[in-house]
Amino acid sequence: MVEQLIAAERRSRRVCWRCGRPLTDPASINAGIGPICRRLDNRLLARLLPVDLEAATRAYHSIDPLTLDAVVVGAFETVGEALKSGQDKKDWRIEVRQVEWILSFGQTEENALALMNVVRALGYIGIVNVWLHEATTAVVRVFFKDGHLYFDAQSYWTGQKAIREISGWVWSPEEKLWSVPADQADKFFLAIASYYPNNEGLEAAVEQARAYNQNQENVAEATSAVAIGKIPLSIGSILEDFGSFLVVHAPYNSSFIEKIKALPSTDRRWNADRKEWEIMGRHRDEIMALIGTYFPEVF
Ligand SMILES: [Zn+2]
Repeated sequence: MVEQLIAAERRSRRVCWRCGRPLTDPASINAGIGPICRRLDNRLLARLLPVDLEAATRAYHSIDPLTLDAVVVGAFETVGEALKSGQDKKDWRIEVRQVEWILSFGQTEENALALMNVVRALGYIGIVNVWLHEATTAVVRVFFKDGHLYFDAQSYWTGQKAIREISGWVWSPEEKLWSVPADQADKFFLAIASYYPNNEGLEAAVEQARAYNQNQENVAEATSAVAIGKIPLSIGSILEDFGSFLVVHAPYNSSFIEKIKALPSTDRRWNADRKEWEIMGRHRDEIMALIGTYFPEVF
C-alpha cells in the first residue's frame, strides 16, 4: 500500500531529466521531456563513440526489474529486446529516448546510474553528460581559422577542464575565444561534443581542420622525400663519365668548387641551367681524387 502511494507520488512529480524542470502539460508528461529540451534533440542525441553492445547489455542486466516502478517495466523490457537483437544496429536514439522517459519518473540512484551506463555504452555520451549536469546546453559557436579550431568561451568549468587537457590550448581574453591546434581535431571534437553538445559549426570546423592536417602531412611527406633523396649520395649521382668529358653535379661545397675553378678555364664550364660542371675527360683522375677528398662517403 505504501509502495503504491510512493509510486503514485513519483508519477505526479515527473521531471524533465535534462533540465530538472517539472513536466506539467500533458504532451510533455507523455513524452517525458519538456518542450525546450525537446528542441535540442538532434544535437544532444548525436552518437560520439562506437557502440559497445556487450557493456550496454551488462549495465542493463545490473538492474533488477522488480525494483522498477511498474509503469516503466514495459519500456525497460523494450530496451532489453533491442539490445538482444541489436548487433548491427547503429541508430539507438529511440532506445535513448525510452531510457530518458524511464528516468523522468525518478529512479533510485543505483538504477539511474545503470540506465545512464547503458546509454553511455551505446555511444551517446553528450546526452549522458547533460543528464549528469556535466555538460552545458548553452549555445557555443565553433569555427576553424589559420590552422586552429576556436570556440567562444562559456564560463563552464567541466568543458574548460576538458579543453585544458588538449595540448596547445590557448585562451585569448580579448576575443573571449579558446583555441587548439588543428592536429588536435579529434580530441577537440570529443571535448566539445561531450561538454557543449548544443554547439554550432563543430562538424564543419573539424572537417576543415582534418583537411588542413592532411594537407600539412602531404607537404611534410614531400619535404622528407627530398631529404631522403639526398642521403644515398653515390659516385654515380655526382659524376657522369662521357669519355671525352665528365659531368659533375655535387652538393654545394665551396672548397670543392674552388679546386674545379683552379682547372684551366678552357677545360671546364659551369652549366648554370643544369647546375653542373662540364669538365674535359683528361682531368678524370684529378676529379676522382677531389671527390674522394670532399665527398668520401660516395666510395
Ligand atoms: Zn527540460
